[in-house]
Amino acid sequence: MPLQAGKPVIVLDGPAGAGKSSVGKEVARRLELPFLDTGAIYRAIALFMLRDNITPSDTSKLTERLRSFSISFADGRVLACGEDVTSAIRTPKIDREVSAYSAVPEVRGSIIDIQRQGKSEGLVAEGRDMASVIFPDADLKIFLTASPEARARRRYNERLEREGMADYDEILNLVNRRDARDSKVTPLEPAHGAIYFDTTGMRFEEVVESILEHAAKLK
Ligand code: C5P
Repeated sequence: MPLQAGKPVIVLDGPAGAGKSSVGKEVARRLELPFLDTGAIYRAIALFMLRDNITPSDTSKLTERLRSFSISFADGRVLACGEDVTSAIRTPKIDREVSAYSAVPEVRGSIIDIQRQGKSEGLVAEGRDMASVIFPDADLKIFLTASPEARARRRYNERLEREGMADYDEILNLVNRRDARDSKVTPLEPAHGAIYFDTTGMRFEEVVESILEHAAKLK
């Protein structure tokens, strides 16, 4: 059921594999709101920079390349500079490299406006700094987390389904490394006013329903 009043901004923050994307997409679908996956923007930037051999420390080339970077979302696809990169941004290589690019202040600064574009129409946005930086006045702030093992297990299952093979230990290792790197840039803890969910033992539907209950109380 869509909310009757207003066009709320609902944000979900949390570490990799906490279920922000799947939960966020379902909440957005049920509330008939657009869904914004900000991790996809960082991933697309990492993909383009890696292709052009631009390292995170080469700030001048990075800044130059960012000037002509554009991104849009349509029908569940991610288009970067007009190219469909939906699959290309979900590889283990991008998982490994993305944090180094997302840590660059010029990268973060260059996509602030892109992220805020749909704000007036209401949206569900997921990322790391949604409640703290991009939408500090969001109507509903959710922080989703789960144990590293539970998060690695989810990623493992996703990859197994998509690619037919996956290595759990490697994924757990990557989850821990990405947490360590990401937490230097965006604190992996709830922003002021955020509702905390540890989804370790929770079913997907339970998490979604619980967020929808909070959303229903918005005026
Ligand atoms: O959520 P996802 O795993 O797709 O995010 C990919 C990476 O993008 C994260 O590991 C993090 O480095 C970066 N990111 C960020 N701030 C956001 C969203 C993602 O720094 N709001």
